[in-house]
Amino acid sequence: MEFKLNDEQRRMVESVRELAQGKFRQRALRWMDGTFPWENIKELAELGVLGMTVPEEYGGMGLPVFETALILEEIAKVCYPTAMAVLGEAGVQTRVISHYAPASIRERILPQVVSGDCILSICMTEPHAGTDVRNYRTNAVRKGDRWVINGVKTLISRAEEAGMFVVFTRIEGKPGREGIGCVLIEKGTPGLEVTGTYHTMGGENLHEVQFNDLEVPDENIVIREDGFKKLLNAFNTQRCLNPSISLGLAEGAFDEAVKYVRERPIFGKPIADFQGIRWKLADMYKDIEAARGLLYRACWTANPFPDPFLAATAKVFTNEMAIRVTGEAIQVHGGFGFTDEYPVSRLYRGARYGSLGGGASETLRDLIGRKIVSGDMDTDGILALGYF
Ligand SMILES: Cc1cc2nc3c(=O)[nH]c(=O)nc-3n(C[C@H](O)[C@H](O)[C@H](O)COP(=O)(O)OP(=O)(O)OC[C@H]3O[C@@H](n4cnc5c(N)ncnc54)[C@H](O)[C@@H]3O)c2cc1C
Repeated sequence: MEFKLNDEQRRMVESVRELAQGKFRQRALRWMDGTFPWENIKELAELGVLGMTVPEEYGGMGLPVFETALILEEIAKVCYPTAMAVLGEAGVQTRVISHYAPASIRERILPQVVSGDCILSICMTEPHAGTDVRNYRTNAVRKGDRWVINGVKTLISRAEEAGMFVVFTRIEGKPGREGIGCVLIEKGTPGLEVTGTYHTMGGENLHEVQFNDLEVPDENIVIREDGFKKLLNAFNTQRCLNPSISLGLAEGAFDEAVKYVRERPIFGKPIADFQGIRWKLADMYKDIEAARGLLYRACWTANPFPDPFLAATAKVFTNEMAIRVTGEAIQVHGGFGFTDEYPVSRLYRGARYGSLGGGASETLRDLIGRKIVSGDMDTDGILALGYF
């Protein structure tokens, strides 16, 4: 097993780190009121990062999951809203367009994703159905050579900035998961309305998005049935990318904690001299490294998609680790850790998101548990799964 980055991976990580630590760090507080981090996004586009999962033929880098995760980790160390915005350009929605959209849409939209001129939004969650995708009510009905869409989506990221919405919808009212397809809706389409705003504790704004007798041409219906089944592999990729943000947030908070305990004197010596504080740092460090091992290993199985069981395991552990570690980073800062004066409270607020989205911890624990009792692991444990 190889535990070192190769030269190319190292160069890529270093260039993103330089930008993130040199510029994004100082700007991070600006985005906590819901302002979209355009300045950062444009600079990342110049580095090519926004197109990291866009196929090379459309001007992207076509990077595998592991490299994408490394980049998100670097950005998240200093700025959760920027990392989330980049995930939006590198995640499921990009894959839907790359794999399922007709050539006319791919050729027009994907180069704009790379340049940062087209922000993508994914619309899945509905007011009464988040995890329970079988209950989606948004529906697309054929009308001649066009489709009419009605419905409401909620908690949608980047809805105000998006140039393209990737919307999961029922097709012709067909029930259940099998009846779910996917439609592409461009900004400015009559009947598309971005309404109610939710400001999150992580800093970003989420919105409600409504489709009122909205019409699209047939070519915009990019998945006509079994949308979830078709995209399960892409969702497993998301289960590696979401925790890469958690890992970065935990590392960023850990670095801040180490710096602070070396500098802060109490009772005549730096608090780093107290064993109780050093033990906290030791626990934070071991948790981060355990999560890194799980996550990188899950990414390593991607060929091109990660193993679902390992991705779920890595996601649950890393998301929850980040909440613990960023919380402890606040603790060692004392009362100052609770203020905006130090980055740790910001990183903690971002870390709280991971276990809610991209497959919540409860549903992924279900997936992991089902596999464990399925019989696959009864005799040889992990060896039976063929990972080693
Ligand atoms: C910052 C942020 C950004 C987001 N961006 C987007 C976006 O861009 N697009 C989009 O479509 N959505 C987005 N969402 C919504 C997100 O995907 C949903 O919140 C998520 O899918 C959970 O759905 P829900 O909130 O309806 O919770 P529910 O499905 O109502 O779940 C509530 C609780 O029940 C638990 N639960 C569910 N099933 C089970 C079970 N079988 N056993 C035990 N417990 C269970 C859940 O884990 C959760 O803890 C975003 C959310 C946040 C916080």
